[in-house]
Amino acid sequence: MLEIRDLDAFYGDAQALWGVTMDVHDGETVAVLGTNGAGKSTLVNAVAGLHAKRRGRVAVGGTDIAHLPAHKVCGHGVAVVPEGRRVFPSMSVYDNLCLGAYRRAARAGYRGSLERVYDIFPRLRQRTGQLAGSLSGGEQQMLAIGRALMAQPKLLLLDEPSLGLAPVMTDEVFEAIEAVNAQGVSVLLVEQDVDRALEAAGRGYLLAEGRVAGSGTSAELRASDTVQRSVLGI
Ligand code: ATP
Repeated sequence: MLEIRDLDAFYGDAQALWGVTMDVHDGETVAVLGTNGAGKSTLVNAVAGLHAKRRGRVAVGGTDIAHLPAHKVCGHGVAVVPEGRRVFPSMSVYDNLCLGAYRRAARAGYRGSLERVYDIFPRLRQRTGQLAGSLSGGEQQMLAIGRALMAQPKLLLLDEPSLGLAPVMTDEVFEAIEAVNAQGVSVLLVEQDVDRALEAAGRGYLLAEGRVAGSGTSAELRASDTVQRSVLGI
């Protein structure tokens, strides 16, 4: 599904990713763990075409997308939920969701997509006419994920979905991520909350200072000294 090979990314002359190589196979949820500044957001943005200064291979379904801008990456079935959610606060829940279906291919099936999103997030159905800016943080995260799903992606990139959420909301958001994955959408899950990420994912990678510092199944990563030291600070 997603093949990242020797990916470098830069901010000006400063290099933030160094030769990152990762895979997400069809139907998998894969976690990317790492502390603040490890390069997790840079990785998501570089894959999504939001970070222009990059080098290496990024392929989706065998097609190289590394040179494409974000709107073209979306056309290859990749949707991103950026850190900080970024919903349109003065638009309704419904209008925010419809914006996610702007691609021609997604527009045709938008009613079906909307029903699927409302089934996964009943809170959004109840609040369909409410302004997005008046939703709680957790509800905004659900809306941001729902909006990404409206594009009918094959691969969802999630950047820190638990950031700033109360534990009960985080539970709901993670249940939804598992439901999305159960519907066949592959997920690359960038997350600082190691326990939750490894619970949702089958396996994962550890990023440290812009490099892959470890990888393995969730059980292997949970037991790994490097993960304990570098992410959990134990
Ligand atoms: P966090 O969890 O805090 O968001 P992260 O793992 O997502 O951290 P990144 O935001 O990808 O890390 O940052 C990786 C490195 O790139 C850091 O050293 C950071 O200081 C640097 N960096 C990020 N954004 C910029 C920018 N706009 N300009 C210059 N350097 C940046």
